[in-house]
Amino acid sequence: MKTVYLDNAATTQLRSEVVAEMTKVLSEDYGNPSSTHSVGRHAKSIIETSRKSIAANLGCLAQEIIFTSGATEANNWIIRSAVVDFKVERIISTKIEHHAVLEAVEHIGHEFSIDVQFLNIGNDGAVDLAQLKELLSDGVPTLVSLMHVNNEVGTVLDLVKVGNICRLHNAYFHSDTVQSIGKTEFNFKELPVDFAVASAHKFHGPKGVGFAYIRKGLVVNPMVFGGEQEKGIRPGTESVHNIAGMAKALELSYTNLESDRSYIAGLKNFAIESLTKTFPNIKVNGSRENGFYNILNVCLPMDEQKTLMILFHLDMKGIAVSRGSACQSGSAKPSHVLAEMLTDDDIRKPSLRISLSHYNTEEDIDILVDALKAI
Ligand code: PLP
Repeated sequence: MKTVYLDNAATTQLRSEVVAEMTKVLSEDYGNPSSTHSVGRHAKSIIETSRKSIAANLGCLAQEIIFTSGATEANNWIIRSAVVDFKVERIISTKIEHHAVLEAVEHIGHEFSIDVQFLNIGNDGAVDLAQLKELLSDGVPTLVSLMHVNNEVGTVLDLVKVGNICRLHNAYFHSDTVQSIGKTEFNFKELPVDFAVASAHKFHGPKGVGFAYIRKGLVVNPMVFGGEQEKGIRPGTESVHNIAGMAKALELSYTNLESDRSYIAGLKNFAIESLTKTFPNIKVNGSRENGFYNILNVCLPMDEQKTLMILFHLDMKGIAVSRGSACQSGSAKPSHVLAEMLTDDDIRKPSLRISLSHYNTEEDIDILVDALKAI
C-alpha cells in the first residue's frame, strides 16, 4: 500500500542530502565542540559554519541565532525571558497560537502574576489589530506574541504591520515562525521582529533541533545552567549532526524556494478544486485569500457521527492527514484553533488539515478524495 503523506505541517520527510550530511557528521565529525584539540575544534567549526549559513539565508547576524532543541524550548525561553529579563508587565497573544506559545504564556503569566490578554480572532483567523493598538496605547511594558503562519489553518500574519505597531508603542514582538521559516523569504535586518523561532523538522530537516532568533542588543539570560555553549545562554553539548542537518535543510529550502512554492501552491489549488467538485458544500477553514500555500484546512459537509472515524478510515488506507494539530489527533476534543473560528454547527462537523510538500503529487490528492468519497 502506498503511503500518502499529507501532514507536512506536523513534520516533513528529510531530504536525502540532509541525511547524507548528517550521516557524515555522525560518523566522521564526532568531536565535542568544547574540546580544545583539533577533533573538537573541527566539530566547533561545523557549528559555526552552520550558524553563518542559517543567518545568511535569513538576513541576520550569525550571533543572533541560538541553537535549541526545537521551537517549544525556544518559545518558552523567549516568553520567560521577556518577563524575567525585560520586565514586561503584560503579554498580548491569541488563543489560536500553537500550544508551545499558548501554554507558555498561560503558565508564565500565572507564575509571575502578569496580565495576559488574548486578542479577538475573526472567523478567517485574522487577528484584531485595532484591539492590539488600543491595548498598547496605555504604555504598559508588553510582550506581543503572535504567530506568523497558523499551523492549523494557515492564516498569515503581516509581520511588518504588527512589528511597526509594536515599535510605535515600545513593545517587544515575538513571532512563532515555525511554519514559515524555510518556506518564505525572511530578512530579519529589515523586519521589525525582536524574537522568532524555527524547528528543523518542519523544513525537511531533523527532529529535536531548532533555533531562537534574538535581535542583537537584546540580552537574555539562560533558562538552564551548566556550561559555556551558545555564549552560556543555552548550555549543553551541541547536537552537531542535528545542527549541520538543519543548516543543510534550510539552505536547500531556500535554493529551491521559488520552484517548490509554485509547485505546492498549484497542488493546493488542485486539491481545493477536486474537493469542491466532489463535495460542493465543503468550506475552507481560515482565509482563502490569506492562507499559506501549503496548508489547507477544510470542513467536510458530513454527518458529525463521522468525525471520529474519518481519520481512522483514511489511516487504514495509508493516508496521513491531520484533524487540527497533530497533538490532538485521536482526541474527541475539537481543535482549540477551530473552536475560536468556527460556528457551533461547523465545529461539530469533521474538519481535515491537508498540508503539502514538494514530495506530494496530484495522485496523492486523487487518492485522498477517492477515500473521502467512500466514507
Ligand atoms: N510552533 C508551531 C507553530 C508548530 O507548528 C510547532 C510544531 O508542531 C511548534 C511550535 C513546536 O515545535 P517543536 O516540534 O520544534 O517543539
